Amino acid sequence: MLYIYNTLSQRREPFQAVKDQVVKLFVCGPTVYEDAHIGHARTYISFDIIKRYLQYKGYTVYYLQNITDIDDKIIKRSQKLGLDPLKLARKYEKRYHQDMEKLGVNQVNFFPRASEHIDQIIGQIQTLIQKGYAYPTPRGVYFDISQFPDYGKLSRRKVEDLNVSRLETDPYKKNQGDFALWKLRDEGPLWDSPWGSGRPGWHIEDTAITEEYLGSQYDIHGGGLDLIFPHHEAEIAQMESASGKIPMVAYWMHTGFLNVSGEKMSKSLGNFITIRDLLENHHSQVFRFFVLSTHYRSPIDFSIKALEQSAKSFTRIKKLVNRLYQLLDEDLKESAEEPFQGWLQEYKEQFFHYMDQDFNTPPALAAVFKLTRKINQALAQTKPSLPVLKNILSFFHDLEEILGLQLRAEDEEHRVDESAELLELILHIREKLREEKEWELADKIRAKLIDLGYEIQD
Ligand SMILES: [Zn+2]
Repeated sequence: MLYIYNTLSQRREPFQAVKDQVVKLFVCGPTVYEDAHIGHARTYISFDIIKRYLQYKGYTVYYLQNITDIDDKIIKRSQKLGLDPLKLARKYEKRYHQDMEKLGVNQVNFFPRASEHIDQIIGQIQTLIQKGYAYPTPRGVYFDISQFPDYGKLSRRKVEDLNVSRLETDPYKKNQGDFALWKLRDEGPLWDSPWGSGRPGWHIEDTAITEEYLGSQYDIHGGGLDLIFPHHEAEIAQMESASGKIPMVAYWMHTGFLNVSGEKMSKSLGNFITIRDLLENHHSQVFRFFVLSTHYRSPIDFSIKALEQSAKSFTRIKKLVNRLYQLLDEDLKESAEEPFQGWLQEYKEQFFHYMDQDFNTPPALAAVFKLTRKINQALAQTKPSLPVLKNILSFFHDLEEILGLQLRAEDEEHRVDESAELLELILHIREKLREEKEWELADKIRAKLIDLGYEIQD
C-alpha cells in the first residue's frame, strides 16, 4: 500500500486513485522569464520520480504542467530588455525544456500555455461571477474571499492573515485579500474580455487549464512549498466555487526548499545557481542522485561538498552494477549456500517499503547501499548463480526505471573510450615512424586520418 502525505489533511494517507488505475497529476510549471534554478530542478526531479514510481506500481499517470507565459515578471523583464513579452517567454520556455531534458526530467505528458487558454480562463471567470463568487471593478475582476468560507483550509491561515492585499492595490476591492482574476490594462500583451481588454491573473490560469484537461476533480496537485499561499489556496477557492465539487484535488503534494550552503538561495546573496550553471561543471545524474538523498518534503542543503559525496555514492553503485553485468560472461556455478538471493530479498523489500512511505528515498537508497556493500564483500569469495545474478540485475534495472538513473555504463561510453585510445596509439606509431625517418608511411597515415576527418598538426 502506497501512502502519500497530503498537505490538505496534514497527514499521510493511503493512496487511492479517484478513478480506476488512472492518476491525473498536475504540477505548477515555470514562469518563463529567466533560466530555471536548482530549486526548480529539485521540485521537477521529485515529481518525475513520483510519476515513475506510480507507474511502476501499475498506475497510468497523466502528468500535466502549465507554462506561465503571461505574468507581470515577464512583462517587466521584456520592457527592460526592449523585447516582445511573448517572444521573451518563448525563448525561456525553450531553454526550460532544454534544461529538463539534460536533467532527465521527461515524464510530463503535456505543457499547456496560459496564453493559449484565454477562452477557458474567461469562461471560468464568467461562471464565478454568475455564481456570486467574483465581481468586476473599474480595474479588473476579483474573487470575493468572503463568499468562500473554506478559504485558508490548505495553508491553515487565520482570517486576518488571509485578508491581506499582496500585489493588487485597488480601492474598489471588497476585501483586502480578494485576488485578481482579470486585470484591465492598457499596455500589452492584451486580450479582449467581457470586462475590457487586459490579461488574466496568475491563479486562474491553472484552474482554467486543469478543468479543461483533468476535469474539476483530480488526483494530485504538486508544487513547491512556497506556492501553498496564496497560489494554491486561490486555486481551491476558484475551482471548488466554480464547480461546486469538493475536493478539487485529492492529494496536495509540496516539495521543500533548497538552500545553498545553509542559506536561502537569492540573487542578492550571490548564491543563485541556475540549472545551466550547475550542469557546466557537474553531471546531471549526480545532481539527481543528490536530490534523492533527501526526502522531497524536507529542506535540502546544496553544497559542492554534498554533491561530491553524492558522486562517490552513485559511483559505488554503478561500479557494482557494471561488475555484475560482466559476470554474465563467466561460467557461473549453482551453489546451495550462496547468500545473494536472501540479501536481494531483504533489501529489495526494504527499498519498496520506504518508497511506499510517501516516496521516502533516503532510507530506500540506504537499503540499496547495504545490498551493494554485502554483494561487494561476498564477491571476493563467491559468485552468484546465473538465475540469482539475473534477479539482482533485474532489481537494479527497476531502480533505473523508478529513479531515472543510469546505473549501467552505456556501450557508447566504452566505444568512445576505445576509439580515443586507438587514435592515441596510431598517433604514437606515426611519431615513431617520423623519428625513424619513415616519411612515406607517416604521410600515408596522416592522409588517411585527414580523410577520416581528423586534423593532424606536426
Ligand atoms: Zn500554478
